[in-house]
Order: sequence, then structure tokens, then C-alpha cells
Amino acid sequence: MINILDLNLVELKQWMKSNGESEFRAKQVSDWIYKDIWKFENMNNIPQTVKEKLQDNFYIGVPELISEHTSKLNDTRKYLFALNDGNLIECVVMKYKHGNSICISTQVGCRMGCKFCASTIGGMIRNLTSGEMLSQIMKSQQLIGERISNVVLMGSGEPFDNFENVMKFLEVVNSENGLNIGQRHITISTCGIVPKIKEFADFQLQTTLAISLHAATDEIRMVSMPIANKYSIAEIIDACKYYINKTNRRVTFEYALVKDLNDSKRDAEKLSVLLNDMLCHVNLIPINEIEENELKRSPNDSVNEFKRVLESNNIQTTIRREMGLDINAACGQLRRSHIKGNNVNEGV
Ligand code: SF4
Repeated sequence: MINILDLNLVELKQWMKSNGESEFRAKQVSDWIYKDIWKFENMNNIPQTVKEKLQDNFYIGVPELISEHTSKLNDTRKYLFALNDGNLIECVVMKYKHGNSICISTQVGCRMGCKFCASTIGGMIRNLTSGEMLSQIMKSQQLIGERISNVVLMGSGEPFDNFENVMKFLEVVNSENGLNIGQRHITISTCGIVPKIKEFADFQLQTTLAISLHAATDEIRMVSMPIANKYSIAEIIDACKYYINKTNRRVTFEYALVKDLNDSKRDAEKLSVLLNDMLCHVNLIPINEIEENELKRSPNDSVNEFKRVLESNNIQTTIRREMGLDINAACGQLRRSHIKGNNVNEGV
């Protein structure tokens, strides 16, 4: 059986044709699915014979909700979903005045090994398909009863370690025959897989690229990010410049501040030199502490001072709003708690 969400419209049309059906049935079926009708038998304008063929060959792979956690601090919801094969993934929905935003997972687990991240503790189990990425948005929309207008690929998994499926997801999520979410409302985050940044740049999409940099020197980066042993910061900056050249899009650098590791004034000055004159923006993230390591959250004074130094060097900087600290909202923490059988804070 095939997850029908893994097919784009062209592929579904081809399937209809090769199974003796009119191609326009593909669009009808697809319209139903994106209107949240997830049973073939409820698709009123599809003849019974076509419904039976669909049922024999496909399933509509929307995940099952295992648990829902709503922050007491703001309207952030975190969902733990079970995929068709029982694997667990999580996503976070954040409500802003300008619309709803979702952070989705691209893999079950992750093999990148970043020390501050709970997603990687059990390694990478498998890649998600494009349909499994889409279905996190579809299911979340159904749960909140509202459309989602912004998508961030920053949950569990390294998107560029699952490049082909992510590219197919981007095509369908952006398509007017899919979820019709504009490219400028989509952000892809990577820990810095240099060849893939360049390959991605060549597609010249208008999405936002976010780089998890988290250090201003390779030595410090290596402490928390094993990928730093493979690609240097200089190579990453070079790939980002190539990306900016190709797309004319501003790059976002994510910088998780860890007490006494990378949060000094000197670190901020080094980062300013690295990003000098680049079309970029820095997002400072006070880390969520996790049980499994000793990394400590930066004090607010250090965070503010770091921001001040960057801004004094004309680098646009924001401190990321802390969403759902009370619900293990950082990537991988909820799945991890569930696997370990911990209680997490339930909804208000
Ligand atoms: S931060 Fe991202 S790339 Fe690093 S281990 Fe976590 S999910 Fe993987």
C-alpha cells in the first residue's frame, strides 16, 4: 500500500491513467484530501469503482494524535503523532497575530549529534517521506480548526540529510494543488551541510534558509556540533554567500547561547567579523536545558549584551521568543519524554 500523500498531482494523474481512469479524477481526489476528507468512501463525486481501486492501492497517511500539550505561558501547542509504522514524531504549532506557524519534523530522530538537542539521542531511525511532512500540517490544521500559513522545517531531523523528500515536500506544500503555502512563508533549517546548501541554492527558491551556527569559531562549534568536524565555518559562510548570490534572499543564522561556552562579548565580536556585510539576520536562542547533558542556559544579561554587540556592528538580531518552555517545546524533547515514560506538563 502507498501513502497517497507521497504522490504529487502529476504522479496521481499518471496512476489514474495507467489504471484506466480519467486523469481529472486525480484532481478531484486531491481536492478532497486537502479539504480534510481523509476517507475515500466520503469523496462524493468519485465513482464507486474508482474508490475501490483507490482503497486497494492507497491509504491516506495522516498521523494519529498520541498526545497534545498546550503551553500555560502562551498559545503554543505541541503534538506527538504516531506514523503509520508506529514511529513517533512531534511538531509544534505557534499562534501569532499574523497567522499560525508550524515547526515540523523531517526525520524520525536525527544522526547529526548536536549536544544541545534531544532529537539525536537515539540516533536517526528513518527519513520522513514528503507525505509524512505534509500530513503534520494537515493534521495540525484539523486539530486547531484553522489554516496554517507559515512552515518551519526545524523540528526533529536534518532537512538536508533527507534532501529529495524535502524538495518534493516543498513542491507540494507550495503548489496551489497542494497546501498552497507561499515559498516566503517557509523556512528550512540546516546544521550546515555545505554541498546541500549549494545544491539547494541552485533551485533558486524564495524560501528562507536558516543555518544553525551556534559558534563563532570551529573549535567551539566542535564542542556541541559534530558536523563542525566535516565542514568549517568558513565553508558554511562561503556556501551562504553562494546562496545569497543565487536567490537574493537573506540568510538567518541561529545561535543558541550556552552559558560560558559561546555567550561572551568576545564571541559576539568574532561573529560580527564573520557576518560582516552579509545579507543576514541573527536569531539568538537561549537554550532549553535537557537532562542528558550539562549545557546551561545563558543568563539574560549575557543574551542582551550579545545582541547589543551584534547590533552595534549593523547585524540585525532578534532574541527568539521562548515558546512553550513548560511543554518541552524544543525539538525532540516531547518524543524523548514519551519514550522514557516521563510525565510532561499536560494542557491547561
Ligand atoms: S539540532 Fe537539528 S541537526 Fe542537530 S541533532 Fe537536533 S535535529 Fe539534528
